[in-house]
Order: sequence, then structure tokens, then C-alpha cells
Amino acid sequence: MVATTNIIGDVVQNVAGDAIRLTVLMGIGVDPHTYIPTPADTAAIHDAHLILANGAGLEENLDKILAGAGGDAVYVQLSDGLRLREETEGEELKASGQAQRHVDPHVWFDVQNVIDWVQRIEQALSALDPSHADRYRTNAEAYVRQLEELDAWIVAQIATLPPANRKMVTNHPAFGYFADRYGLEQVGTVYPISPSSEPSAQDIAALEDAIRAFQVPAVFSESTVNPKLAEQVARDTGVQLVPLFSGSLGGPGSGAETYLAMMRYNVQAIVEALRGP
Ligand SMILES: [Zn+2]
Repeated sequence: MVATTNIIGDVVQNVAGDAIRLTVLMGIGVDPHTYIPTPADTAAIHDAHLILANGAGLEENLDKILAGAGGDAVYVQLSDGLRLREETEGEELKASGQAQRHVDPHVWFDVQNVIDWVQRIEQALSALDPSHADRYRTNAEAYVRQLEELDAWIVAQIATLPPANRKMVTNHPAFGYFADRYGLEQVGTVYPISPSSEPSAQDIAALEDAIRAFQVPAVFSESTVNPKLAEQVARDTGVQLVPLFSGSLGGPGSGAETYLAMMRYNVQAIVEALRGP
């Protein structure tokens, strides 16, 4: 069995327990957008009975290999069937008329979507391995309870922020589902679409104008993307630079070793940064 991102891998492990042999393609700190599969990854994909990917264009360089995996493998794209966001760019780009429409793949930042993943994963595992179906169901139910608690906790945390402060400037538009679900607004991003395409000088200037106009107190960077540009924007505008986890879990000791921990880590950092004086 193969999972593409380590976030998917963690969710799968929670449902499967030790009943499966799971290969997670992307290591800690790897950016899913720019990830290039190794020959060993390609071999693992070809050997797998079940492949679990995010889809929606997240794994930009894996799409071809995954689509051509063939054989008897069941290929599940966990974003299928979810309501996908189309609009991913910041307000300043929309205002300038440069915005392009495309699908936002970062579905895991809405915890309800991950609850849907768990159900899809449980079904896929049970279909492949009916003898352990009871165990998968029990594991899935226990994990969903933790996800529901997490979801409620995030709602309560964001509720502590004054409504005027619920504005985020992020490194790339990874927090759209988070913003939609929990009542924030992603008002600008350093990378307009994916970290695989560099922003122009005008993009950066427009973003810095937006930070000043919205009086946003922080720029959020990510563990998976070079923070150089985010650092520059924070410096130019005199706001705080706050690191978050987006496309990858954190390593041991990071406080973001699992999906549940990563979400709590991010929310704490966001609330602290946006709380204001
Ligand atoms: Zn991303």
C-alpha cells in the first residue's frame, strides 16, 4: 500500500493500525507540489495493491505515474467527492484582475474533509482485506471522534480572536479550506499559486500593499517552502514571520508529528500571531 504525502500516511495508519504494510512516498519536510518521484517510488507505486493520493493537482509530478500505475492497484484520490474550492488567490490579485481560476488541493485544512477521508480509507481497506474489516471500522470510529474534537477545538480557538483580526497572509494559498471552515480570510499569499512558480516583483509589491492596507500583523511561512521571500515581505512591512506546517508533518520534537498535532500547532501559532496587543 502506498500513500503519497506523510499527512495521508498518518491518517491511513490511524485507520489501519499495524494490519498493513504502508509506504509513504514523501518524507518529512517535502513539498508535495514540487516533489519529484524517485525510481524506488515508481517501483512502490507499481507494486502496490492500493494507492492513496490527495489528487486535485496536489502531486503535480506524480500524476502521470499514478494514472499509469495500471495492474490491479486500486487508486483512490481522497479529494474526489469533496467540495473543492476554485478560487485560491489573494484579494490583491483579484482586485488587479490577474486572478486565474483553478482547483485548490489543500483539502486537509478543513477537518471535516479528513473525516470524509477516514471513511473512504476504511472502505478501501475493508474491500481489500475483508478479514480485518471490524478492526478498520473500530479504528476509524475512534479516530473520527478525535477529529471531531479537533474540529470543535479549532472553532473555539478562532472564536477567541476579534473578528477584525481573522485575516491571514500565507506563503502560498494552502489555507483556503481552513479559512472557509473556521471563519478567517486568506487576504494574500507570497506565492500566488504553487511554490513551483515564482511570484513576480509586482506580485510581491501588491502583497506588501495588502498587508499594510489590511494591517495584518504576521506573515505565515511553511516548513516545506524556502522562507526567503516570506522573510523579505515580513521585513519590508515590519510584521512578524510565523512558521506553520502545511504540506508535510514536522519531524520528531517539532510538535507537529501527526495530523492532529500539526493542526493544533498551526492553530495555536495562528491565534497567537493574530490576537493583537
Ligand atoms: Zn500547497
